[in-house]
Amino acid sequence: MRYHNITKDDMLNGDGLRVVLWVAGCNHCCKGCQNPLTWDPDGGLPFDEAAKQEIFEQLDKPYISGITFSGGDPLHAANRVGVRDFMAEIKEKYPDKTIWMYTGDSWEHIFHYSCMKYVDVLVDGEFHIDELDNTLMWKGSKNQRVIDVQATLKSTDLSSPILHCGDYSDYKHIRSEKHVTSCTF
Ligand code: SF4
Repeated sequence: MRYHNITKDDMLNGDGLRVVLWVAGCNHCCKGCQNPLTWDPDGGLPFDEAAKQEIFEQLDKPYISGITFSGGDPLHAANRVGVRDFMAEIKEKYPDKTIWMYTGDSWEHIFHYSCMKYVDVLVDGEFHIDELDNTLMWKGSKNQRVIDVQATLKSTDLSSPILHCGDYSDYKHIRSEKHVTSCTF
């Protein structure tokens, strides 16, 4: 597995303050992708012990809510095993921290992957520029979904994912009715 960056105190890629690992490798080629430099699986740097320790230093901080895997695509063939093994290590070492993942794949094609048992929230689907909406929570285009993976895995119908939170317009509606979702806004 290779990576391009590790960003810290990130507020844009999941609930709370997070550390974000931007991996190398993506073959979705979405029109309008903001990170085409990350498509090459041979780009960036090897994900080595020093990079791992850099992430652990962040997760050691009590105010860091967890880690987000982004890219590139963490489920690109070059990353899948490395990401899964690192997630297992994180869940063992930091059971109270959450793991989010962004992928261009769709939930229906990937819910059986072994890494899903470690993922709390998945933002799925390719970026569709014709469905771009900057008011959406945690996602760029309307077709994408912010999925509560553990709740969905426990449900009887895996083909109907349970959402972690809806769109921002849903949130405004919910707030007006004084019902609060699990999202941190
Ligand atoms: S899945 Fe993400 S990183 Fe890959 S091309 Fe689409 S927007 Fe870019």
